[in-house]
Amino acid sequence: MQADLLIHNANVATLQGLAAPRPADAASDAGLRPDWSVAVSGHRIAWVGPSEEWDGNAERTLDADGALVTPGYVDPHSHLVYAGDRAFELALKLQGKSYLEILEAGGGIRHTVERTREATVSELAEAALPRLKRMRAQGTTATEAKSGYGLTTESELRMLEANAVLADALDLPVVSTFLGAHAVPPETDAQAFTDVVIDEMLPKVEAQGIARYCDVFVEEGVFSVAQGEAIFDAAKRHGLGLRLHADEIVNTGGAELAARAGAVSADHLLRVSDEGIEAMAGAGTIATLLPTVPLTLMQPQWAPGRRLLEAGVPVALATDHNPNNPVTSMTLVAQLGCFLLGLSPTQALTAATWNAACSLGLESELGSLEAGKRADLLIHAVPDLDHWVYEPGRQTVETVVSGGRVVAG
Ligand code: FE
Repeated sequence: MQADLLIHNANVATLQGLAAPRPADAASDAGLRPDWSVAVSGHRIAWVGPSEEWDGNAERTLDADGALVTPGYVDPHSHLVYAGDRAFELALKLQGKSYLEILEAGGGIRHTVERTREATVSELAEAALPRLKRMRAQGTTATEAKSGYGLTTESELRMLEANAVLADALDLPVVSTFLGAHAVPPETDAQAFTDVVIDEMLPKVEAQGIARYCDVFVEEGVFSVAQGEAIFDAAKRHGLGLRLHADEIVNTGGAELAARAGAVSADHLLRVSDEGIEAMAGAGTIATLLPTVPLTLMQPQWAPGRRLLEAGVPVALATDHNPNNPVTSMTLVAQLGCFLLGLSPTQALTAATWNAACSLGLESELGSLEAGKRADLLIHAVPDLDHWVYEPGRQTVETVVSGGRVVAG
């Protein structure tokens, strides 16, 4: 076999095995193979196997010297595209103001909306590109990206168009989610805006074919469960998959809505009820957990990660990158997934790769290291998964291979 790149003598976390997102028991096997190698040809993984069985030629060989190799991270919840930043809010947060208080004072998302509405597609892409590069340099080789900072039909569509520009610029998968119902714009109310999302925005999103998923921020004072349900019904008619911001600040029954509507993922879940967990387990809804959010909101309470896993709910991890939580490191998210949510290192890796890929419908293409898949993989500066999380904040990723190309290291 002739390969472009061979990563030799690695401790390879293959994530090979099941065809569905993995709940706790299955997520406890990362398919770790000591002294294995991965061969890459073009954009694809050509071969994965024991190092002594490799008998091909490789144009370039990287000796991993026993280091951990994992699939590239998949970040299944991000608000990558927006104009401006909100560093000035740090002072308000340090004064003890809550997210809803900052929002009611005209800050928060409204600040971002004003700037995003004025931006062109290329200005939005230009603002987001350095962020996506930082994500990739830290190991994220595929990401989801939501709209939701325009809140007018035209500006929402521009955000989704920017996702495609970004995907092309770095040649990596950016999965678009239409999140028109992210906040209620100041010029209207939640019910009237729900009607705009359903009657005006969703038909155009479908017509342009620029989103794969629809998301709603169901929360007290934002959109109700009934409004979320109506948007989901319409999104399904327009051929979109569903994901939900659910039960973050108060329990509204968001997890139950996600399960009932057949959403692929319910995200946040700090206040999820036992009934909500049961409904998600029954429906196979993935719980996407975002452990840096309570940190950056300075409201230290975390989603019940272990309880969700024990109930049979598959867990994914994500940054929730946004101007209020500008985190780009999935390694940090995975480390906090262990220390704050109670995931094992193996469960955290599964959550940051395979389960995340499943939640974006990309599991046949990436999320595990198998011949034929997109060659997205990471060489870490540590030998195993315990050391991967052992030092919270340590950036363990040394080399990033994205679509077969070495892009960092
Ligand atoms: Fe979010």
